[in-house]
Amino acid sequence: QLKVAAESKASTSAEATKPPSPARQRVKKTPNDFIFGKVIGEGSYSTVYLAKEVSTQKEFAIKICEKKHLIRERKTHFVMREKEVFMKLDHPFFVKLAYTFQDSERLYYVLTYARNGELLGYLHKLSVFDVPCTRFYTAEVIVALEYLHRLGIIHRDLKPENILLSDDMHIKITDFGTSKVLPLNEHGTPVNSPEQRKKNSFVGTAEYVSPEVLNNEPANFGSDLWALGCIIYQCLSGSMPFRSGNEYQTFQKIVKAEYTFPEGFNEEAKDLVSKLLVLDPEERLGMPGTGGMSALKSHKFYAGLDWDALPSTTPPKLM
Ligand code: ATP
Repeated sequence: QLKVAAESKASTSAEATKPPSPARQRVKKTPNDFIFGKVIGEGSYSTVYLAKEVSTQKEFAIKICEKKHLIRERKTHFVMREKEVFMKLDHPFFVKLAYTFQDSERLYYVLTYARNGELLGYLHKLSVFDVPCTRFYTAEVIVALEYLHRLGIIHRDLKPENILLSDDMHIKITDFGTSKVLPLNEHGTPVNSPEQRKKNSFVGTAEYVSPEVLNNEPANFGSDLWALGCIIYQCLSGSMPFRSGNEYQTFQKIVKAEYTFPEGFNEEAKDLVSKLLVLDPEERLGMPGTGGMSALKSHKFYAGLDWDALPSTTPPKLM
């Protein structure tokens, strides 16, 4: 299964409707098509290299997974899920999977190179973001989530480490190993049936995990909105809303939605965060019952923002 699934050519929804070109079908990349450079990241089941494609001189990030390691650590399903999601995505705010190939020992995922690294790096460097930067970057995350959720995909591990930045400082979200993909019905609407909902397990990162996931309830689109609330809080304050001495205490706070705002926290953002960090996922701003994503985008924290122009807007300088 590992072999079959890993060998298909990445395609986008637009490409999927085009007849396959014979040339593209025949050409299968190999490691020799790239010059490998420095390591740019290490994950729990992969190493990511900067690489240059020989034929085009284009730079990519190549994620390499050792098959033996995947099997030994029972991580095979994470890479399969990640590939399944990558192949559905075709949007400027996501890392794109250009090619996949393999040799006897490794799987290779050739990805858009997000040259400016993790948003977390900027948060560490600057401690806090000002209001214009927080508005801009969290607005891009909202647009990305709107797209993802429309495809029936819940990210489930949204955090500043997984929000990468491109050459021109726009976001490129990545890390879909723990995402959940819901089937779409005949109208293209995601179905979160009881059958789907049964299969729930704790995934994510302690500080950003939602109360429903800690309570063994199903992750849903609202779980990503909870993470968004944590990220907005973190950008403006430099700390996480539920951070505590240890993971157990953090979880205790999360299940009670127990957090406070530091003095001077922007008032509009305070209102927004308090509408996202709500225990009942259905009650979170952005969910259908509260007016959906359009209500979230109409929040006064984002007043005057041109949502459609975001990808072509010059980002405010992170400083
Ligand atoms: P995790 O344990 O976080 O699930 P993983 O094995 O899925 O890890 P990634 O998180 O995808 O690996 O990648 C590890 C690191 O490599 C990232 O945190 C990031 O810093 C860097 N990285 C990954 N993809 C890219 C990319 N497309 N462009 C630039 N850097 C990247």
